[in-house]
Amino acid sequence: MVENAYNCAGSNRDVPGSGHINTCHVPLQAIEQHGLSEIRDKSRYLGEYHYFRILDPRREHVFRLAAGVTLRFVLEMAFGYRNAPLWKMAASTGEAVFTPFYDVLRARCVSVKFFHRVTQLRPTDDGRIGEIDLSEQAKTKNDSLYQPLVHVNGVDCWPNQPDWTQLCSGTKLEQDGIDFESSFCTITVGARTLMVGRDFDIVVLAMPPEALNRIAEPLKKTSREWQTALGTSRSVATQALQLWMLPKLAELGWELGPTVLTAFAEPYDSWTDMSHLRRPSEGPGS
Ligand SMILES: Cc1cc2nc3c(=O)[nH]c(=O)nc-3n(C[C@H](O)[C@H](O)[C@H](O)COP(=O)(O)OP(=O)(O)OC[C@H]3O[C@@H](n4cnc5c(N)ncnc54)[C@H](O)[C@@H]3O)c2cc1C
Repeated sequence: MVENAYNCAGSNRDVPGSGHINTCHVPLQAIEQHGLSEIRDKSRYLGEYHYFRILDPRREHVFRLAAGVTLRFVLEMAFGYRNAPLWKMAASTGEAVFTPFYDVLRARCVSVKFFHRVTQLRPTDDGRIGEIDLSEQAKTKNDSLYQPLVHVNGVDCWPNQPDWTQLCSGTKLEQDGIDFESSFCTITVGARTLMVGRDFDIVVLAMPPEALNRIAEPLKKTSREWQTALGTSRSVATQALQLWMLPKLAELGWELGPTVLTAFAEPYDSWTDMSHLRRPSEGPGS
């Protein structure tokens, strides 16, 4: 149920020894240097494959991947998959992946705080994250616990916007079109700082590089590792399109059965029919 469309089954396995060659950062550069660029350019798989394109869609830089990571990735793609290299999810990511995670965390009495934006990260003397400044974006009515899920046809789902009725000044926030997830949203109703040792032991920092670059200046100043990590990683804009149509797949001209097709022509180089996600109550063509 929760197999991810792009993730090879078992991709957490280690390729023995691959870690030792990670200091070598030139596998794709080497392809160029050894005259194999023609293969790369002619091979849709190598040259156009989603992940390699994501690394540098405009081809402004020579591809640079750690050798061990690349070796592992290519071996997993070629030999490590189970049944098929690409899988379709049986439900949307929110419901298939995050609802179960959230349920487990709640069952373990983990406190999940919504509506908080990280505004700055400061280091300890040895370069670890020592302090996290947070801006609170909204408060719940009567300080009650925010309930994020809505029940749709027997499934707990994540709605595409907050439940405004649970928030203080929710109607106004909704009318103002506030998007708490936007980088440009500076709305704040409070602030607090979390400190290592007092509020947390370990941080899982799961923000993209562009977002981190804005709030991690103090970390970059004190740590060369942070400087390198943030100086050499980039975010890449992507685009996606969803079409809801009445005809079935074969009627649209694709007669080879279900597929997840990738490495096709730009600008939309991957496509799949996800009709199986349509719930019976949504009716034909919805
Ligand atoms: C159109 C599209 C289709 C895709 N399809 C697939 C697929 O089929 N299979 C697959 O495996 N992958 C797919 N991917 C890739 C996958 O979605 C990403 O790799 C994945 O979501 C990355 O997860 P993440 O947690 O690292 O980052 P994100 O999902 O980007 O999460 C980062 C989070 O940080 C939050 N954040 C940012 N700044 C702050 C701040 N200052 N304070 C607090 N929070 C902040 C953001 O709001 C965001 O929620 C797809 C991506 C796109 C765009």
